[in-house]
Amino acid sequence: MNIQEKHVNDIAEMLKEAATKIWEFAELGLEEYKSAELLAELCRGEGFEVDMGIAGMPTAFVARWQNGSPVIGYLAEYDALPGLSQKISLEQEPFRGGQPGHGCGHNLLGVGAFGAAIALKRSLEESGEKGSVYFFGCPAEETITAKGYMVRDGFFDDVDAVFDWHPADVNMINMRTTLACDSIEYHFRGRAAHAASNPDWGRSAVKAVELMNAGVNYMREHIHSDARIHYVITEGGGEPNVVPDKGAAWYYIRSPRRSQVDALTERVNKCAEGAALMTETELEIKVIDKCYNMIPNKVLSQVMLEEFRETGTFEPTDEEWDYIKGLRASITDDQVEDALREYLMPTDYEGVMHGEVLDLEKEGQVAPGTTDAADVSWKAPLAHARVACKPLGLPGHTWQAVSVFGSSVGMAGMLVASKLLARSGWRLIENPQLAEEAKAELDKHLKKEPYKPVLGPEMQPPLPGH
Ligand SMILES: [Zn+2]
Repeated sequence: MNIQEKHVNDIAEMLKEAATKIWEFAELGLEEYKSAELLAELCRGEGFEVDMGIAGMPTAFVARWQNGSPVIGYLAEYDALPGLSQKISLEQEPFRGGQPGHGCGHNLLGVGAFGAAIALKRSLEESGEKGSVYFFGCPAEETITAKGYMVRDGFFDDVDAVFDWHPADVNMINMRTTLACDSIEYHFRGRAAHAASNPDWGRSAVKAVELMNAGVNYMREHIHSDARIHYVITEGGGEPNVVPDKGAAWYYIRSPRRSQVDALTERVNKCAEGAALMTETELEIKVIDKCYNMIPNKVLSQVMLEEFRETGTFEPTDEEWDYIKGLRASITDDQVEDALREYLMPTDYEGVMHGEVLDLEKEGQVAPGTTDAADVSWKAPLAHARVACKPLGLPGHTWQAVSVFGSSVGMAGMLVASKLLARSGWRLIENPQLAEEAKAELDKHLKKEPYKPVLGPEMQPPLPGH
């Protein structure tokens, strides 16, 4: 058996236990104290040097095992989603009512990456080959928060290659870019007054929010078709009888390229300024976060694809098949067909659980989402795999997803990911020229489009309660 796979098998029970614990902790972004500490402690036990609380976030860490170059990096995430608590069940029933749940499978993501880090480190130790392993504990992926700050503060500067993954309903290497994104709050300040007796004295901050949103909505026709702009109103007044002096909206402004987002944000800012002018209110623009689009590295993606074909996928047990089919019955044929179209698979594909590994995607496609792993891809060559941990077409951020990511099906997918990531890292240890080629590819891209840090030195992660 392949040596990295053997090392993963040796620690499989420990990995499943850790993923189950993090699934149960189900902590929200920047509050993942128990989850981060669990992973950090396991790293210490394996001889990694842990730096906890980095880049201004108490639940962010880096664990390094230093043994020369190349330096292989793995990314962990461990944040859950609000209100999604769910048992491992085919019915919707909360595990802890109203509490968060792991609807994006970050319990598997973090531990799967950890398994790879350990397997690679043990392979290096055994073989006497040169190479270092860095394991990054990245909080709050769901609110696109941590990795940009970790990049800004230099934690990826000496990393040669990063292999990343996400639990999915398909086995493939991502060649798509993601959307660059600005997360911005617009706060308006007006003048309170009695809404019936003295409305002429009042200046409504909520009307400013409404006018700003109206302006942005009229703008939609004239933006890039892959761009996305969405908002929520976070401050909308108290009672109708008081002219509200405070009003605020929180925007995500996204587009396939960073420069497009910069230009769009300027236009959204003008809508806000116009609204403030019209309503005689004051405007404060508060940037929460900014991130880049992903640049998938072709050299590393090819390595990962070849290793994925060798690793293969897992074969569910009879009991697991019953559970998988039960989950499939909870979604519609349309949802499955949407997934097949998205992955450019034949629409008559009949498998319930994806059991093959797809060919590399065509370059240049845009995934309609954002991840802060994108910022890492501008600092170090990065490849990203999706590994099937749930039935085909089953959407994330749902009770079904929480159920499956806590189950033995999710855990089996996670072990595939650990093996895949460890094998991919080992390929670079044995073939250092691949790391050089991957770096040359990134450098070529950066020459054309340099990386300009988007988070200023004065910016701080939005910690809860601050
Ligand atoms: Zn996720």
